[in-house]
Amino acid sequence: MPTYEYRCLDCHHLFDRVEPLAEHGEKVPACPRCKSRHVEQVLTPFFAKTSHKA
Ligand SMILES: [Zn+2]
Repeated sequence: MPTYEYRCLDCHHLFDRVEPLAEHGEKVPACPRCKSRHVEQVLTPFFAKTSHKA
């Protein structure tokens, strides 16, 4: 199953979730640190070595 990376917009915690394709996009995961559902998916190309370009 594919792994998706998410970032919590409240506490900025980064976390990974393994989700079946059928479930992806249907549910918003809760942040494991602060339980917020205010999270966004982080798209991470497998070849990327730097975190962000401004
Ligand atoms: Zn959080």
